[in-house]
Formats: sequence, structure tokens, C-alpha cells
Amino acid sequence: MQGRLAPSPSGHLHIGNASSLLLAWLDARSSGSALMMRMDDLDPQRSKMAFAEAALTDLSWMGLNWDGEVLYQSASHDRYRSALQQLIDQDLVYACNCSRKAIQSAMQDVVRAPHGKPLAGYPGTCANKGLPLNGGHALRFRWSGDPFVLQRADGAWSYQLAVVVDDAHQAIRSVVRGMDLKESIPPQKALIEALGLEGATYWHVPLWMGPDGHRLSKRHGDIAIRDFKARGWTPEALIGWISHGLGLNEQAKPLSAQELLTVFDHQRVKSQPVLHEEVLPLWA
Ligand code: GLU
Repeated sequence: MQGRLAPSPSGHLHIGNASSLLLAWLDARSSGSALMMRMDDLDPQRSKMAFAEAALTDLSWMGLNWDGEVLYQSASHDRYRSALQQLIDQDLVYACNCSRKAIQSAMQDVVRAPHGKPLAGYPGTCANKGLPLNGGHALRFRWSGDPFVLQRADGAWSYQLAVVVDDAHQAIRSVVRGMDLKESIPPQKALIEALGLEGATYWHVPLWMGPDGHRLSKRHGDIAIRDFKARGWTPEALIGWISHGLGLNEQAKPLSAQELLTVFDHQRVKSQPVLHEEVLPLWA
């Protein structure tokens, strides 16, 4: 049951990210599985090497380790290209030249249609236009759900394609990630099937919410791991609080990742988001 840590280096890791990564580490280490490291640095505008390096440093500081080399998605284009070709060969890909605006207004029309079946997502306007696949358009995946982008018009690969290809490449059988990614299961399973890959089991773990009820992000203040470190927190104090928020440590007792591992129990991890009342002491 090989697992993985897959941070996105588009900013410094904060306690919400650290919480999911800690659970991925606990899940793998408690079952004696290998744990691979993958940098989800696909987005050329937002990903920075400095953030990737900082993430590795922050995770090591927390006492989380991994096995083998780091896999960088930014260096994996050939793999995505050959998966895309495999889908093209099965006629599962079409080109789409809809602007964002056209997609939004098409969706409104569909939703407003009085007797039509309401569609939550993009209605697949270009599916039968036969636009050339090499014409600089976005490429979408044809399946029973909303056709999603595999490759953007500017050539950037989509998260859905990359994650499926890389999880298979690294032989990942146990995926632990934030609850916000739960809705990616159907599209990812469809891709796994179309590509003939072996799937994984998924555990979607609770998100951390800020005082405003929104998912924790850097606009909530100095919540990065390195902010806590700069304020003099020890890794044990931070893991104590994070594990408390997750329902694994009643008194928020400081403890190392290794100590937490000895008492870790999947069943005790709460399924609800971690609420701001529990988070607040972290930056008080
Ligand atoms: N890199 C993603 C994140 O940081 C995780 C992707 C995944 O686990 O599928 O949220």
C-alpha cells in the first residue's frame, strides 16, 4: 500500500496543508508502507522552486520523512504526453476553443432551460465540432461526466491528468488528501480506467477552516509552518496542536511525529472540518 506526500509549491506550507500531509505520513508509516514524495509544481505561473525546497525543509522539521527521490511534475511532460496520446488513440479527446465567458453563459442557459436536465458543469459545447487537436486549443476528456481539460491551450497539463499518471507511475495504492479533492474521484477513476492503470484507495481528510468559515489560506494571517517556527514553536508543540484539531490528542499535548505514530488510530480522526475555535489558539 505505497502512499505519497504531494505538496503544491505555490506558497509556504501552512497548518492546513501540514495536517493532511501529517495524516498521509501516519497512514503510511502505521502500516509499514513506503511513502513517496511528489511535488505538484505543474502550474508554471504559481509554482516556485523556492517553495518546493521550503516545503521539504518544513516537513523534515516536523519530523516527517519519505522514501526515495522527489518526483517533480514539472519534469514529467513526456509521461503526460504519452498518456494523452493513449486517450487520443481511443477517441476520448476533443479540442475546445470556448472562452471562459462562453462556458459560463452556456452553463447559465443549460441551468435555466425549463425542462432540460440541469447540468452542473461545462456542457461540452465543442464536443462535436471536430476542431484540430494540434490547433493550440484546450483538450478535453470525453466521458460520461462533464468533459474536463487535460491540457490547456497554453500547453499546461491539468491536475487531473498529471495526478492519475503520476500516482500510477509511483505505484501509489493509498491516497490521503484534503476533503476538497473528494469530487475529483469520478474524473480520476474514469481516467484510470481509460488508461488501463491500477487505482488506489482514497482517504479524504478534514480541512482546516479559518474564523470566517473559509478554508484556511495565507490570507488568514501568519499560519505557515515557518511562521510558527519563527515564533519559537517546536515541532512537538505544532504537532500537538494539529493532532488535537484532528481529534487525535485530547489535551493538545506536545508530541513528536514518531510519538503520535505510536498512538495513531484512523478511527479517531474526525470527519468534520477542523473549526476555527480549535484553530484560534494556534495564532493567539
Ligand atoms: N497537491 C495537492 C494539494 O496540495 C494534492 C493533490 C492530490 O493529493 O491529489 O492539495
